[in-house]
Amino acid sequence: MAALTRLLKPSSSSSTSFLLKRSLSTTTSVVSEIQSQNHLNPNFSDSKPSRNFQWVFLGCPGVGKGTFASRLSILLGVPHIATGDLVREELSNSGPLSRQLSEIVNQGKLVSDEIIFDLLSTRLEAGESKGESGFILDGFPRTIRQAEILDEVTEIDLVVNLKLREDVLVEKCLGRRICSQCGKGFNVASINAKAENGKPGMSMAPLLPPPHCTSKLITRADDTEQVVKERLRVYHEKSQPVEDFYKNQGKLMEFDLPGGISESWPKLLEALNLDDYEVKQSAVA
Ligand code: AMP
Repeated sequence: MAALTRLLKPSSSSSTSFLLKRSLSTTTSVVSEIQSQNHLNPNFSDSKPSRNFQWVFLGCPGVGKGTFASRLSILLGVPHIATGDLVREELSNSGPLSRQLSEIVNQGKLVSDEIIFDLLSTRLEAGESKGESGFILDGFPRTIRQAEILDEVTEIDLVVNLKLREDVLVEKCLGRRICSQCGKGFNVASINAKAENGKPGMSMAPLLPPPHCTSKLITRADDTEQVVKERLRVYHEKSQPVEDFYKNQGKLMEFDLPGGISESWPKLLEALNLDDYEVKQSAVA
């Protein structure tokens, strides 16, 4: 993580740093297992990877990257790092960067790679000082350049690409709410999309807040229909190529969400070969 932190700093592309990044490579690479079995088999009970998980979550806005990445981060004991959260934290400060960012974010555009690298390295540095290792990245990389730089500085084990019908994505974004006090995310949308044009029907129950959060719910400024559609357009243009980047490396695991969280979570664990792990974890909890 230390080398990753330094290397993500835009000014740190020295040859020393280049050598440091190599120390992040895994010896018992989970990747080789993906390539041989086409799905993850971390085999927790027998042999652990020599360092912690370094995973990436990809997917369109609203697909649920944050929800599933944060659940997995608790299960696996690695930090969930969402660059969108880092951007929103920066937005909540007053200052010239915050004003610059709010204009970009509220139009559904991407923030510059330099700003993102800066926010991410600051976050990694803070984590490193607390002894964090490994990560589940959510919302990064979002451009080929970001993916290439990440690839230069460390080895990603697995990339999970969450997929959902586009009409459902829009509905989900519009129903999204955040508690301004505890920061937890909810969704007030009750989704019942009919089967059409070969796409399966889909139902998702709302994820309602507990009573103490109800009066404190806020909507993200970029969760309006117009901005969500622009974010989807930007995703297809700039971020979809990142899926191919990892597909070519044999690291991409595609996961079509079958429905809401209660339906999708066990299936995702199964696809990741972690269903047994969850049972073991809850037994010792
Ligand atoms: P998210 O919460 O992931 O939807 O991110 C919210 C907004 O933050 C995005 O629409 C972008 O404006 C910005 N953002 C987050 N991550 C990145 C990234 N990796 N590259 C560029 N912009 C980003």
